[in-house]
Parts: sequence; C-alpha cells; structure tokens
Amino acid sequence: MLDTRPGLDGLHVHRARITGGEVRAGEDVEAVVDAARRAAVARSHSATHVLHAMLRRVLGEHAKQQGSLVDAGRIRFDFAHFAALDPEQLAATQALVNEHLLADPEVTVWWASRSEAESAGATALFGEKYGEHVRIVDMGDFSRELCGGTHVGHGSQAGPVHILGESSIGSSLRRIEALTGANALRHYDHERQILTELVDLLHTRPEDAPGQLRKRLDALAEAERELARLRQPELSALAGRIAAEAHPVEARPGTRPAGARPTGTRPAGARPTGTRPAGARPTGAGHVGARPAEGPDAGPGSGGIPGDGGWLAVRRVPDVGPDELRTLVTEVLNRRGGTGVVVLAAERAGKVTLAAAIGSGLADRGHEAREVLARAAKIVGGGAGGKGPLASAGGRHPEHLDEAPAAATPRRQGPPSGRAAPPPARPYGCTTA
Ligand SMILES: [Zn+2]
Repeated sequence: MLDTRPGLDGLHVHRARITGGEVRAGEDVEAVVDAARRAAVARSHSATHVLHAMLRRVLGEHAKQQGSLVDAGRIRFDFAHFAALDPEQLAATQALVNEHLLADPEVTVWWASRSEAESAGATALFGEKYGEHVRIVDMGDFSRELCGGTHVGHGSQAGPVHILGESSIGSSLRRIEALTGANALRHYDHERQILTELVDLLHTRPEDAPGQLRKRLDALAEAERELARLRQPELSALAGRIAAEAHPVEARPGTRPAGARPTGTRPAGARPTGTRPAGARPTGAGHVGARPAEGPDAGPGSGGIPGDGGWLAVRRVPDVGPDELRTLVTEVLNRRGGTGVVVLAAERAGKVTLAAAIGSGLADRGHEAREVLARAAKIVGGGAGGKGPLASAGGRHPEHLDEAPAAATPRRQGPPSGRAAPPPARPYGCTTA
C-alpha cells in the first residue's frame, strides 16, 4: 500500500502496487494492517498534537500549525513564527511535550457539527477541508484539534519525543523535526555509544569527559605554541634565504625589442613551471624556481608590478602550516621592503596553503595581495582571502601545487593581459603599463 487519501465523502482511496497476480473489478481483497508501523505512526500523530499545543504555550498563540509530516518514528512540524527558536525555547518545548505525554492524558475522539466543534474551541487547520460533521481529538485538557488521524489511546504510549532541530522554511515559517517513540530511544542509544567511545579514548568517566577533553585541547594548543616558538629560528633562516634569492626586476624603458615575447610567457623549450631550468642552483626541497632563469626576454619588466626597481620571490616551501606561511611572507617582505612581491606555497597533511605579501611601494599604489593570489588559488581548488598587503588561500589539490605559485598574477593596470591563459602558462608576469 503506497498511500491512503480521503475520497468521496466517507470513502478512502488506497493506492497500491501489485507485486504478484492480477486484480479485477468486483473481486474481494483482504487488507491487513501493518500493526507495528501503524502504532509508530499513531505515536507520531499524538506527539504532533502535543508538540503543537506546547509550541503555542512556549512561543504564543500565533505559533499555529501550517503543515506536518507524520511518519513512523519521525515528525516534521511546520508552524508560524517570526524568528529562529533559541536552544532554551527548543529545550523547554521538548521538556513540556514529554512531561505532558508522561502525565498520560487520555486521548478521546468524538464527533460534532462544525459549529459545535468551533464553539468548543477545537483548533482547525487553515486550508484543510472539513465536512459538516467533524472528528475531534482531545488530549487531556490541553489539546483539542479537528483531526482524522490515528492516535494512541493514552499519551504515555506515544513514548519520548526528541527534537532534532529547527529551521526556517519561509518568511515567518519555521520547521521542527523530531523523533518519536522507539526511534527517539534508538537515537539516545546511538548517542550513548558515541559517548562510550569517547570515554574509552579519554580513559575517563562520562561526567569527566568534557573536562578531560578541554584539558587535552589546552595541552595541545600549548604544545603547538611551543613548537611554533622552536620553529621560529628555522623559519627566520628560511625567510632570509628566500629574501636573498628574490629576483630583482629590471627597469626596461620603452617598448619591447622586436621578437621579444610578451612578458610572462614561457620561452620555447622552457620547462613547465615548477621545474628548475638546467643549471639553476638548487634552492631547497620543493623549490619551484624563483623566476630568474626563464630566459632573457621573459623577466617581468617594463612597468606594471612590481615595476622598476622591484623584486619578486615566488617559490614553494617544504612542510609549513598556514600560520607559519603567513609569518614567512611577512618576514621576507620585511627583509626586502619596498616594491616587492612574495608568493609562497606549501603543503601539509594533504592541504595546500598559499600566501602572498606585497610591499608598501605596491600597496600604496592601490594593489592588494589578494589579487596576486586569485588565479593561483583557483588552480589548487580554493579561493584567496585577506585584505591589503597580505593574503592567503587554501586548497584541496596538492597535486597542482607546483603550478600555483607561478600563476600568481597581480591585477594589472590597463587592459587585462592575463587573457585567460590557462595555468600554468603565465608565470608571475608584468605587462607593459
Ligand atoms: Zn491530527
């Protein structure tokens, strides 16, 4: 049986899928109720009425039901309210619902005329169609609704209700999702199992688990601070090496000599970005090459960024975390100062970090470090963030890390010349202004 709906007055329409044999008009069929499922649905339906009543008690009379899904072990309840419920309101609602169910109110069903029901204060749902003769469901003395649904005989049979959460589903329309009956109990069992696992890991008792965990997180943070302190000299030395290797950008007045390649493209035969040109001095693990050896024509040059007298440091550094990388770009910049750009990339534990810093000479001209990183960040599957002279980006594709630093391209003034060159074709490059 897939669904049951009201049909002509007093009749129900059953929709079924036939899995064997054939059914012909005029034949008798035997319908058997799935008793366990029906009982679970009945619990949910009674729980829905109590939830409706208690929500109006907690939030106010305006919190009327706007729709609901009543399923075996689960309910979804939509109601009118103008704001998100805070955790206290949700907790209060859940406590009131369970309290009223445990008080075991009798559930009584009676019939009356529409006007009788209205004068008896029965809640009717907006938009529902009711006949002249209506069915009314009372729960104790706190809930009276027009309802055609299946209910438990007594409130306590509905079992516990556990509210999973609350959300917005439209303007002044909220939705609560909750578990009922055996489903709620299973949920508690499952959470208990999780707690047991945590308690085993922490070698403690459940009530001490939060304190223990807090202690260990504090200890971990302390250890990380200590590690950062011990790493400082090493990072400073690295910053010194990177600053020393920074590639000066020559002034190149006038137009490019005939035959010269546009700045930033790789000379024919040049290796893909990320490999060291033959004969270049090794500069450490993971080095992708500051740009000096790209060929005589290819250096960033005539105007633009970093421009005359500027310098450039672009490379990958081994095993450095996000915070350290930001420190590192800043330190390199501090050592060289002026009109320079530092772009560094690192990988740790499968995560990619990029960081860029631009010197005051560029920042003063309105450049932002974030622009330098935008394209590189995309290559490693992330987005660049940060303001002013310092930017960073994270990514999930370490396999593209070697391509990323070289793709770091500052915003240019004048017509864009990045012209969608696919990465990593353009190293950091500056065009004629
Ligand atoms: Zn109902």
